[in-house]
Amino acid sequence: MTTIATQLRAATAQIASAATQAGRSPESVLLLAVSKTFPASAVREAALAGQRHFGENYIQEGVEKIAALSAMADLPRLTWHCIGPIQSNKTRLVAEHFDWVHTIDRLKIAQRLSEQRPAHLPALQVCIQVNADGGDTKSGCTPAEAPALAQAIAQLPRLQLRGVMSIPDPQPDAAAMLAVHQQAVAVFHQLQQLPGLAPLDTISLGMTADLASAIAAGSTMVRVGSGIFGARS
Ligand SMILES: *Cc1c(COP(=O)(O)O)cnc(C)c1O
Repeated sequence: MTTIATQLRAATAQIASAATQAGRSPESVLLLAVSKTFPASAVREAALAGQRHFGENYIQEGVEKIAALSAMADLPRLTWHCIGPIQSNKTRLVAEHFDWVHTIDRLKIAQRLSEQRPAHLPALQVCIQVNADGGDTKSGCTPAEAPALAQAIAQLPRLQLRGVMSIPDPQPDAAAMLAVHQQAVAVFHQLQQLPGLAPLDTISLGMTADLASAIAAGSTMVRVGSGIFGARS
């Protein structure tokens, strides 16, 4: 068995154990494999081991990998998630190539993505990135800004709002980590209560180091990079 396949199994087992401990079903948490900085050959290996959802941070790098992987006729169709910051001049590439965007934190980017989403593709699936713990070095809207942004996104014809994404700062202990994850989940529940929105089902929360507490807090999608592909140089 290859290393990537082995690591994928381990990550899946870790997710299942965290879910079970939290009284949740293992199938309620999707594993997103974060392949940033790793070559198309690594993505291919993961795809051959059964992985279908991949996350990329850097738009150009992601678009090149999407093209390379789509050209491999022996692979099933993969689902690509943009999980990095998006500048205005990159929205077209994202709208044309990705299936999901996790990092919407302002309306202008959402509007451009909706306008630029090609008609032959399904609506772009999006999450609002929330800076739930107020760390000042990060992107993401504030929890207070999230409801108005959600309602504005719901009006955009080529986007489908699915939920929230957050990247809380590391905390000194497990209880503090759980608390910051719960802050992000609270924003999701607040958005769920808004009138006029289609049902939301996605909480993109947790990475290699903090996936257990993210799942305990309610994450439905964990973004795992180094835990699958190894350390990034
Ligand atoms: C890099 C990255 C990840 C994966 O991080 P690991 O610690 O390698 O699991 C997840 N989410 C985002 C937004 C990232 O940039």
